[in-house]
Amino acid sequence: MRVPSLSPEELRRYDRQMRVEGFGREGQEKLKKARVAIVGLGGLGCPSSTYLAAAGVGFLKLVDKGVVDLSDLNRQFLYSQEDLGLPKVEVAARRLRALNPHVEVEPIKVELDKEGLLDLFKDVDLVVDGLDNWRTRFLVNKACVELRIPFIHAGVRGFYGQLTTILPGEGPCLRCILRAHPPEEEVIPVLGPTPAVLGALQALEAIKLITGLGRPLIGRLLVFDGLEMRLEEIHVSRDKKCPVCGHLEG
Ligand SMILES: [Zn+2]
Repeated sequence: MRVPSLSPEELRRYDRQMRVEGFGREGQEKLKKARVAIVGLGGLGCPSSTYLAAAGVGFLKLVDKGVVDLSDLNRQFLYSQEDLGLPKVEVAARRLRALNPHVEVEPIKVELDKEGLLDLFKDVDLVVDGLDNWRTRFLVNKACVELRIPFIHAGVRGFYGQLTTILPGEGPCLRCILRAHPPEEEVIPVLGPTPAVLGALQALEAIKLITGLGRPLIGRLLVFDGLEMRLEEIHVSRDKKCPVCGHLEG
């Protein structure tokens, strides 16, 4: 595929990040060519989508079924009081396009189910997890394994969060790490800055994967403890008998 060229306006917009060692114009062109899906436009999806749009990822697919609720506004900063009751993906798309008109944003208001996922992700390079329930996360994990595209997982609760990057066939998938289904919680308690930290880290992982810079969080689970202000890394390995990814070579 032809590498898209950057306009003078884009070169100026991305000047500060193109100065980062190893990033340069080549890294920027890779971002422009990249296609990313963000599933869940809540506390995690707001920061991850904002940083990916600001960084100049060429195409963002926003997937969420919800509408803006008053209880979202302590952390979901893409939405305002006047957006209450409006579809999140529509408001988020409008805000992200206003932030960076060089990014194509596709809002998709849909409830995720098994069948639709492969279709939804077949034209993206990677998927960012902004979900708030394990049932859907495992469905997305499975679809990403089937399509062999990276899935950047994060989850938050209260002052705590965790993050890992799943590269099917190379490292463990979500099912390798969590064989049992964690309990679901109807309403997850959370402070705004916690998902902001984790969502920003997800965006950074996505940028690293797209540009090929650094060492992605594959086979490593990063655990954030905001109360103690600590980050810990737990080694996680592939389960060769994993019902989801066990069949993949790697
Ligand atoms: Zn697995």
